[in-house]
Amino acid sequence: MAKKSVTFSFDDGVKQDAPLVELFNKYGIKCTFNLNTGLANEKCRWVYKGVDVIHMNKEDMLGLYVGHEVAIHTLTHPYLEKLDEDKIYEQVYGDKCNLEDWYQQEVVGMAYPYGTYDDRVLKILKRCGIKYARTIQNTPDFTPQEDLLQLKASCCFTNPNLDAIIDRFIESESDEKQVLYIWGHSYQLGVDMSWETFENVCKKLTSVKGLIFETNKDALLKN
Ligand SMILES: [Zn+2]
Repeated sequence: MAKKSVTFSFDDGVKQDAPLVELFNKYGIKCTFNLNTGLANEKCRWVYKGVDVIHMNKEDMLGLYVGHEVAIHTLTHPYLEKLDEDKIYEQVYGDKCNLEDWYQQEVVGMAYPYGTYDDRVLKILKRCGIKYARTIQNTPDFTPQEDLLQLKASCCFTNPNLDAIIDRFIESESDEKQVLYIWGHSYQLGVDMSWETFENVCKKLTSVKGLIFETNKDALLKN
């Protein structure tokens, strides 16, 4: 049977990423963190269902994601399809350059802010050397997708069917590599799902024999 890979993707680069990285490291789970380097400042903050969501300063972000993948979420999280082409390029390529400079790793992945894009955005991503970009659409299919620049996830971790989706993945067989792709925001933990429940998801997945845990890049681009 071909490989079965589990990958996680978390967006925005906020303070709750720190305990999340700790949790993932405890279980040997790999994640991709999609970061807005133009918002790397504690002054960039908002409130989500009564909880403070605070972006990290660059210094706090630098050492945090060791062993995981960092990927583009644009400089300042705009609706890309509302910008002119120069601005789209600046938002994507500027974030890529910052991340490559800060983390000394090649950056080839992205998650669309708000999940939205148009044909101009796709063209610019190709120009920037982006190899995959995640939307916020779901697919029930775990096998390789045709268009990685319009990548669909398995689900957000807050999906009420998360358990059933995981069970279906564990049981499914294929001759092709299969990927379970779960995404979200760390600030939803403790709000939309308890940290304890999420840890139980990690525990369950890592107790299944034969699953591998990879960053988005490795899950999607490696055989
Ligand atoms: Zn976002």
